[in-house]
Amino acid sequence: MRTQVAIIGAGPAGLLLGQLLHKNGIDNVIVERHTGEYVLGRVRAGVIEQVTMDLLDEAGVGERMHRDGLIHDGVQICVDGKRHHLSFKELTGKSVMVYGQTEITKDLMDGRAAVGAPTLYAAYDVALHDIHGGKPRVTFRKDGSTHEIECDFIAGCDGFHGISRKSVPPSAISNYERVYPLGWLGILSETPPVSEELIYVRHPRGFALCSMRSPTRSRYYIQCSLADDIESWPDERFWEELRPRLDDEAREALVTGPSIEKSIAPLRSFVAEPMRFGRLFLAGDAAHIVPPTGAKGLNLAASDVQYLARGLIEHYRDKSDSGLEHYSERALLRVWKAERFSWWMTTMLHRISDNPFDYQLQLADLDYLFRSKAAATAFAENYVGLPY
Ligand SMILES: Cc1cc2nc3c(=O)[nH]c(=O)nc-3n(C[C@H](O)[C@H](O)[C@H](O)COP(=O)(O)OP(=O)(O)OC[C@H]3O[C@@H](n4cnc5c(N)ncnc54)[C@H](O)[C@@H]3O)c2cc1C
Repeated sequence: MRTQVAIIGAGPAGLLLGQLLHKNGIDNVIVERHTGEYVLGRVRAGVIEQVTMDLLDEAGVGERMHRDGLIHDGVQICVDGKRHHLSFKELTGKSVMVYGQTEITKDLMDGRAAVGAPTLYAAYDVALHDIHGGKPRVTFRKDGSTHEIECDFIAGCDGFHGISRKSVPPSAISNYERVYPLGWLGILSETPPVSEELIYVRHPRGFALCSMRSPTRSRYYIQCSLADDIESWPDERFWEELRPRLDDEAREALVTGPSIEKSIAPLRSFVAEPMRFGRLFLAGDAAHIVPPTGAKGLNLAASDVQYLARGLIEHYRDKSDSGLEHYSERALLRVWKAERFSWWMTTMLHRISDNPFDYQLQLADLDYLFRSKAAATAFAENYVGLPY
């Protein structure tokens, strides 16, 4: 098999890249290790920035998002039972949208199927070859036989545990990492949300987040221990632990119900540099991870894809490699700003240590955020993802 760009991974990064390239007449094949049903079953991100909305429109798959997505002009932050409101609209003139990653993935999959572009699901033992040569190749096993794709470029969009980053010699890559001693236990339930806006909660028992997917579907998270497993968290225990972390109004409004999905996600900050190795380009979680507190992971994957798609389009259409040569540098400028913001939100809102000094620092940080227009504006600019 021969294509121009072989894309590893059919998550949001791989599917969005494939769609943008196809729209611009660039041939591409996606190779994904799981089945389509499995990929669609993963409940993850929910908050998207304008840059992501614009790219989904550009990819021609934004119709359902505009119909069903919920525009959010601000967020609420609850500190030890008292709620504060931060208006993105007033501070920056911008908003974000709540539209689930599962829906985005479905829209992109449908868009790809409609144009007949190939995605090879359930492809095992994917391996990358000759990434520094003129003719890179991807090999894999599918339906009992071995296949090979010859291509001009490989886009490694295969997430944190993928094979692309691991195919680079360790001496050529620098890894920066912080692992937090906690996780997020998340529940999805067919119940109305407690509030029209997201509520981020800082509480002595630990962090919580009241989020949503629609006016009838809620997504809640509570900070949990890394030693916890799902079996030890029946729904009742989850609701009992969430309730005391909320303020009176939210507690009153909380409607509980059976979970339709429940998972634990560890919190990690990670960046691999550079994001280009010969003819291999990393994009999305394959190159960097943020703790979900700042809602940046999917948005960063989209902004990487934007730079990469522009570079590849320039290569084929204008015969210029300037975009590809500057891809890593451009993407990383944005990545590190999002890493800083996500780390800051995480350390400000979670119970990370039992040292009372850290607790007082959090209160000082939050008080400054609520009293200073400059601090609130900086927060809002980072959250809505203004171009930086
Ligand atoms: C609880 C939680 C909440 C989150 N909330 C937000 C939020 O509100 N906003 C936000 O922006 N982000 C959020 N994120 C982060 C977001 O979900 C990720 O950043 C996003 O999924 C990254 O997309 P990706 O395509 O780069 O990687 P992935 O979604 O991980 O996709 C990678 C794909 O590659 C495939 N793959 C892996 N290995 C191989 C291989 N060897 N061969 C072939 N295929 C392979 C995988 O099966 C997968 O389909 C959240 C994450 C979590 C866990």
